[in-house]
Amino acid sequence: CGIVGYAGARPALGIVLDGLRRLEYRGYDSAGVAVVCDDVLLTEKKAGRLANLEKVLAERAAADPESCAASPINIGDGTTGIGHTRWATHGGPTDRNAHPHVAPDGRVAVIHNGIIENFAKLRAELEADGVEFTSDTDTECAAHLLGRALADLRAAGEVDGPQLLVSAMRRVCQRLEGAFTLLAVDAGVPGAVVGARRNSPLVVGRGDGENYLASDVSAFIEHTREAVELGQDQIVLITPDAIEITDFAGQPAAGKDFHIDWDS
Ligand code: GLU
Repeated sequence: CGIVGYAGARPALGIVLDGLRRLEYRGYDSAGVAVVCDDVLLTEKKAGRLANLEKVLAERAAADPESCAASPINIGDGTTGIGHTRWATHGGPTDRNAHPHVAPDGRVAVIHNGIIENFAKLRAELEADGVEFTSDTDTECAAHLLGRALADLRAAGEVDGPQLLVSAMRRVCQRLEGAFTLLAVDAGVPGAVVGARRNSPLVVGRGDGENYLASDVSAFIEHTREAVELGQDQIVLITPDAIEITDFAGQPAAGKDFHIDWDS
């Protein structure tokens, strides 16, 4: 229902949670976050109000007071992150069905707004290939497909990095039908968030040494007023210093730049 992404130099967790709070008005039943910290993916998700998620995060911070560089890793220190508030369509509003959904390798996390219409077919195909599902959502298919696409590209000798994440997301989007805004992070590609959209909104917030993604500009309006609305069937890569937009066929594309001039 609500989606936020951040790539920059500041700790992502607080920025993502603030963004989710600003999207609360849309209604939701669960919330979750994924942060990339020192090449490690850290996730937390919880049914119910954002306060429930924040309580679990606070308990975790109290238990792991060390910095990101130290061990145990602290989710609060990663500077790349995504967050989601869910309005359940497939699978009840439980902890396990909350987003993010993580591929079995533990490196890739996906959040999703909308409905993947062909999820039953995709799920059956993945299960026939030995994939074990851990939720009842349509979204989890996208997490598995993305994890597998990344593994395939790496196995084929493709260079690791942000473009690999974009290529993998493109492969996933080519398989999906329905309405989706997807965001993903990969622990192997720190500093990058990839997003994609079809029949569901996604906007980019252009910052200085940091960039944002959200389902709605209100998520990042306190940080920047410069935004880019993505067009239909587009993929966007944000890093702290760049915003790159392509279409589902891999061609360079442009979103619609605009300035947010309403009061927050
Ligand atoms: N269809 C997805 C689910 O039920 C996403 C729902 C949403 O847009 O929040 O998990």
